[in-house]
Amino acid sequence: MLLQTFHLTIVNNHCMPGAQSVNCIANLEQDVSCVIPYLNSALGGSQCTQEPPSVTFKTEGKLISVQANCITVNGIKDEKQAQLIVEWMVREINETWDNRAAITPHYQQPERPSIADLLRLLPQTNCRECGEPTCMVFAVRLTEGAKTPAQCTQLTDDDRYTLETYHSSFSWD
Ligand code: SF4
Repeated sequence: MLLQTFHLTIVNNHCMPGAQSVNCIANLEQDVSCVIPYLNSALGGSQCTQEPPSVTFKTEGKLISVQANCITVNGIKDEKQAQLIVEWMVREINETWDNRAAITPHYQQPERPSIADLLRLLPQTNCRECGEPTCMVFAVRLTEGAKTPAQCTQLTDDDRYTLETYHSSFSWD
């Protein structure tokens, strides 16, 4: 197991009274820089650098960043959610490291589908069941990481599969 121990600290937005979210930093006792290019390949980072080693993921309105000795998450609700997200990332780090022989490591981001590509996969009925006023808005919210394909109730199985493949492989800007 590459990563065994971390220490979580919650950072409140004291300079923003009334802020609805907090940030957290998990300091890691083990250096995980070696897994970063594998993690970028396996989970589809929205940004990845070799020097210093760092990969950032954008999902459901949160930014999760992994660096050599820390994991940071912003836009979280509370300490319980911070703990769950960091524990998930620790599992991903260890599973990715265990499976590294089957993963091609890289620091670049793969080419991302455009909003038009996503829209073509959506039913375009503007039924609003996802909570968005139109399929176009839903596609944009997908690119922001604020929605997931599962939230469109009208997708065919094939289109859902394609969208989920995109979603697990990319974090759109
Ligand atoms: S649920 Fe799907 S089909 Fe309906 S508006 Fe949302 S994205 Fe479009």
